[in-house]
Amino acid sequence: MTGAGEHRALREAMIATSRRMNSAGLNQGTSGNLSARVAGGFLLTPTGMDYDALVPEDLVFMRFDGSHEGRRRPSSEWQLHRDLLAARPDMGAVLHTHSMFSTTLACLRKSIPAFHYMISAAGGTDVRCAEYATFGSAELARNTLVALEGRKACLLANHGLVALGVDLPAAFKLAVEVETLAAMYWRALQVGTPVVLDGAEMTRVIDRFKTYGQQPALPEDSRE
Ligand code: 13P
Ligand code: ZN
Repeated sequence: MTGAGEHRALREAMIATSRRMNSAGLNQGTSGNLSARVAGGFLLTPTGMDYDALVPEDLVFMRFDGSHEGRRRPSSEWQLHRDLLAARPDMGAVLHTHSMFSTTLACLRKSIPAFHYMISAAGGTDVRCAEYATFGSAELARNTLVALEGRKACLLANHGLVALGVDLPAAFKLAVEVETLAAMYWRALQVGTPVVLDGAEMTRVIDRFKTYGQQPALPEDSRE
C-alpha cells in the first residue's frame, strides 16, 4: 500500500517542490524538508539528500506512531512534521526552509509584526518566532506547535521558517510570502522603526481577505 508506486504523482510533486525551494532562493543545499498528508500518515523527504538526486522511491512514508516505510531514513525533522500534521487536520502539507531573510530575523529571535497588511496571509497579526531548540528534537516540534497557534507560518529561532498549507502549492506560496515580508521588514529596520498596523486595522484586513480575489464565480448576469 505504501510502495513507491503508491502516490506517484504526489511523490513527483514533492520532489519538484523541494527543487523549487532551492531554485526560488528559498533554501540551499540539503537544508529544509517537506511533507504531504496521505491516507494513514504522510510522505516526507529523506534526511540529508540532495534534492536534485531525489527519485520518487526516496520519499519516506510515515505513520503518526513514528514508524516508517521506504529505503531511506526520514528527515531529521520527522517529529515536527508528524506533530504539526497531527495537530492541524485542516492542513495537508508542511514546508521547512532556511530562507535568507526569515532566518536572519530568526537569528535575532524577532517575530514579524503587522508592519505590512500581508502578514495576515499567515493567519493573524504576526509571524511568531518559536523558542529555540536543537534541530530534529521533540522540543523543537513542541515549540513550533506553540508558535503556530492560530497561524500557518512561524520562524524557528537560530534556524529557519515553517509554513503550512492545505496542500504543497499553498505551503510553498506562503513560504514565499513570508520570506518576502521578512526581507521587507529587515530592510525597513535598516532605515528606521517600521510603523505597525493596529489591531482594529488588522481586523479589517483579515475581514476584507474573506472576499478578496476570484472566489465564488460571479453569477452569469453580472458578467460583462
Ligand atoms: P534533513 O536533511 O534531515 O531534512 O534536515 C534538514 C534540516 O533543515 C533540519 O532542520
Ligand atoms: Zn532546518
